[in-house]
Amino acid sequence: MRALHFADASSDYSEAQVVIWGIPFDRTTSYRPGTRFAPNAIREASWNFETYLFDHGVDLRDIKVADEGDMEEFGSVDEMCEAVEAQARKFQKDGKFILTLGGEHSVIPPVVRTYPEKTAVVVIDAHLDFRDEYLGLRNSHACASRRISEHVGKENVTVIGVRSIAKEDLEGADGLHYIDAYTVTEHGIGRVISELKSRYNGRKVYLSIDIDGIDPAFAPGTGTPEPFGLTPLDVKKVINSLGRNIVGADIVEVSPPYDSGNTAALAARLAREIIATRHPSFV
Ligand code: MN
Ligand code: MN
Repeated sequence: MRALHFADASSDYSEAQVVIWGIPFDRTTSYRPGTRFAPNAIREASWNFETYLFDHGVDLRDIKVADEGDMEEFGSVDEMCEAVEAQARKFQKDGKFILTLGGEHSVIPPVVRTYPEKTAVVVIDAHLDFRDEYLGLRNSHACASRRISEHVGKENVTVIGVRSIAKEDLEGADGLHYIDAYTVTEHGIGRVISELKSRYNGRKVYLSIDIDGIDPAFAPGTGTPEPFGLTPLDVKKVINSLGRNIVGADIVEVSPPYDSGNTAALAARLAREIIATRHPSFV
């Protein structure tokens, strides 16, 4: 019998267009740990859905997806970053579309470093994650967007859904583009998407989804819940609108110990929206 794998991932690595992998790392989590259990919780939840996504006319069985399982445990956050970057480089060399399941947000900067400099990055997050260091760690999950920006340039990053900003986040954040959750609610996600379209105008985009960007009423299973968040449909629409321009993506910060199962289901469903964008006839 094959080990637990993501529902739509029935291809071998060699033939796969999309590679799913888990990085069950939560050592820098500031409030409550548990995201190390997320990859398998999301895999389990993924079996709940139909393979056909009627609104896109896409059957996920027509897309070749491999689930490469999880990275092993690491001694330190720096070791984790090094190993993750090396593995992501291998996926890139083999021409794979990388879909990463965290783990906490600290696992993503090393993935983004394997994309070209100046790649556009869209981050969904309740937090700005722009501290230069947190509790002595530069690779803390509280510094994720800062580390990503150092590689791609902060002028190429947009963070959507922010509603928690520390004063330290703002030191050095001049030129970082973010759209807070109140603005999204006030103007609607449609206007945000138009703004993204004119800003990125057909460019390739890496998409990082910190699940706490979505309101805890919909996504309670996370380490640092923040009220007044985005809706799941807001995030689906962002994925759909970026569509074929997405060059890699992740879903991080799902924490099963605080979940009823709905957060993992939502993460699995968002992962499927991302996979659907790989279909040649995706609209
Ligand atoms: Mn984050
Ligand atoms: Mn966050």
